[in-house]
Amino acid sequence: MTFMQQDPLVFSGIEQEAARQNRTIELIASENFASPAVRAAQGSVLTNKYAEGYPYKRYYGGTEYVDVIEQAAIDRLKALFGAEYANVQPHSGSQANAAAYMAFLKPGDTILGMDLDAGGHLTHGAKVSFSGKVYHSETYGLDPETEQLDYDAILEKAKAVQPQMIVAGASAYSRSIDFKKFRAIADEVGAFLMVDMAHIAGLVAAGLHQNPVGIADVVTSTTHKTLRGPRGGVILSQDQYAKQINSAIFPGSQGGPLEHVIAAKAVAFGEALQPSFKDYAEQIIANAKAMVSVFNEAPTIRVVAGGTDNHLFNLDLTKTGLTGKEAQELLDSVSITTNKEALPNEQRSPFVTSGIRIGTPAITTRGFDEAASRQVARLIVGALENPKDEQILKRIKRDAEKLAMIHPMP
Ligand code: PLP
Repeated sequence: MTFMQQDPLVFSGIEQEAARQNRTIELIASENFASPAVRAAQGSVLTNKYAEGYPYKRYYGGTEYVDVIEQAAIDRLKALFGAEYANVQPHSGSQANAAAYMAFLKPGDTILGMDLDAGGHLTHGAKVSFSGKVYHSETYGLDPETEQLDYDAILEKAKAVQPQMIVAGASAYSRSIDFKKFRAIADEVGAFLMVDMAHIAGLVAAGLHQNPVGIADVVTSTTHKTLRGPRGGVILSQDQYAKQINSAIFPGSQGGPLEHVIAAKAVAFGEALQPSFKDYAEQIIANAKAMVSVFNEAPTIRVVAGGTDNHLFNLDLTKTGLTGKEAQELLDSVSITTNKEALPNEQRSPFVTSGIRIGTPAITTRGFDEAASRQVARLIVGALENPKDEQILKRIKRDAEKLAMIHPMP
């Protein structure tokens, strides 16, 4: 029996999702298109294998091949970021963060992370997340004028709340982050420094953003954003913390590792070690800057923090009269996929918001250059300025789908 015959609902859901991905312009900053080799590894027989423990020290038999694969993932990841120690088992970025906290903190300790509205992640201390429930969480925001990190203000906050751990890194921050300044702040108050580089890991790997490895006590990341691997997480650190981090992942917070995902991570890290990955990462940034140049000329659209140094930026849509939710739905209707985004000092709920976030990792994988990226930005401006004009929206949708189709998925 074929897959289609056995389970037509799931089979056709996957077929339709593939068609959607092909047809639309993907601008969600945290998404990407993994290579066929990454997807083949993730869909392989390794999903059948239990391998609790770490390479060559397992609790199960029959692990001789997964040992080689997991060790390759570790070695490649260490080479990619110049790390002494790597753990490739976290099932996701959130799991990596949970284990990093567990390795360095006790429940009730204070963490100081970036506010959600400012661009931080839920796991950096939001009250709805384990990170704000298990730990006492305090947050820092952005300078209200520049909408950028204000390291003096972060130091003041750190002195006031005396955290055991400071968390640097973000989900929606368009400017470079100075991890050395965070290190100095952490040292001044005697805190550990954790960097969550989930969003920018691919840029760091390519040498286009300051590398937090060796500066922070612990670095976490996802593997599926700019790094272009399978969905998953990793932790990097120094050898001195190896034992406590390994124990915090297994048995501390996870059971059997997902060896099929770890194999896909190994493939992705191998890809990121190739010289062509640097070209890819450079193009991601060039495309983001090209799009910003178009938005900066639209009178009703404001680019938060004035621009971008990385793969993403946020648009303040207040003057268009559209909420973030409305803009996201409008763009969906013309085959352009984005996400609504809370802006600094957001007045609306996270389900509505006043802006959208745009990222270029996915379109860059599909071969969009600066000219094509500017074209996408012009389509977005056209839709946001004419939300009720059916004729214009129809033309924008046609143009967006044409652009997507001439840049096929890998
Ligand atoms: N850390 C940051 C900075 C993120 O942006 C994200 C996800 O968007 C995560 C962690 C969580 O990753 P996951 O969705 O794999 O749990």
